[in-house]
Amino acid sequence: MKTINASWLLKEPSPEEPPQKCEVCGKIGPTRVASSATGATSFRYCVPCLTKGREPYGALVASLIGMESMKDVADWYKGSIIATLKAEGKTQEELWKNVEAITSAYAKAKGWL
Ligand SMILES: [Zn+2]
Repeated sequence: MKTINASWLLKEPSPEEPPQKCEVCGKIGPTRVASSATGATSFRYCVPCLTKGREPYGALVASLIGMESMKDVADWYKGSIIATLKAEGKTQEELWKNVEAITSAYAKAKGWL
């Protein structure tokens, strides 16, 4: 599981820093922009989402295009997947149905199917 030393995140935000929306859970509050495990991108995370390795669900699904199950996923990424599913109240079965749907839609859009 991805573990992050987020002590710098726990500092009080400066008064000039307005509360922002977490791109994972949608809560408004202290957030930080950090590199995402889903790929070469960044998102705005609240402290609980960042420290637990949660990712925006749509980005998570998109990052798994072409894969069929957890056996296709690198071990270091599995913790983020499990943490995200738990936060979203989704099962692995639901995740892989979503991945299959987006993989098929992508292939059709490209004219591969
Ligand atoms: Zn959050």
